[in-house]
Amino acid sequence: LPNKKFHPEPSVVKVGNVLIGGDQLVIMSGPCAVESKKQVLETAHAIKKAGASILRGGAYKPRTSPYAFQGLEEEGLRYMKEAREETGLPVVCEVTSLEAIESAIKYVDMLQIGARNMQNFYLLKEAGKTGLPVLLKRGLSATIEEWLNASEYIMSQGNPNVVLCERGIRTFETATRNTLDISAVPVIKEKSHLPIIVDPSHATGVRSYVKPLAMSAVAAGADGLMIETHPNPAIALSDGPQSLTFPQFETLCEELRPLAQLF
Ligand code: PEP
Ligand code: MN
Repeated sequence: LPNKKFHPEPSVVKVGNVLIGGDQLVIMSGPCAVESKKQVLETAHAIKKAGASILRGGAYKPRTSPYAFQGLEEEGLRYMKEAREETGLPVVCEVTSLEAIESAIKYVDMLQIGARNMQNFYLLKEAGKTGLPVLLKRGLSATIEEWLNASEYIMSQGNPNVVLCERGIRTFETATRNTLDISAVPVIKEKSHLPIIVDPSHATGVRSYVKPLAMSAVAAGADGLMIETHPNPAIALSDGPQSLTFPQFETLCEELRPLAQLF
């Protein structure tokens, strides 16, 4: 079903009033983790003003260490919904379990399946059943074929609204957190009709590399970007080192404008 032979034209996925896969570049932005109501509302207003059209923020955080901040869970989802009500931005949140899906469907416009759950086939099917658009991140060590098969688990439930997200893969390189596989963009465009966005924040783990890779993703033909932002990255509860400040995010959006029309 993700294969182009079933659907020769590129698919356009609707998230709230935002179209992903059309001729406009969609920028999703927000904090790694929802930390407080104030943080989320402040971020939503700032990213909207800069040019983003979807708010991201994790309420269930699949952290590498069990002792790291795990997320505000349903309270976090509630803040995201309040941010949508205040700004009109649709919201996307990661779900890590069936319970998280059951809560999230009351609050969000799009479900995110994270890299660590890309092959959690049970979770993929449950996300598919909701009918909500699903943002499917590429697994840390997943081939493009495995990633497309994962999308098929969602689509096999009668849900065609899948957006792929390249977020870097494991390689021998240690200078960056992961290695952005920019070639995934043209490869996916050749094999599949699904929209693909790129997340240079998780791909690099380093704030100063986010802008050049965001630019290269757009040049390669990505339909959108996911960029982590925080009011004060120095005190972020997760992924501070890769998060942009609001002025940095604004500059990035300004520099993207000559390359693409923002949604
Ligand atoms: C995230 O988007 O916050 C996240 C945890 O990303 P990934 O699943 O790509 O590591
Ligand atoms: Mn993060």
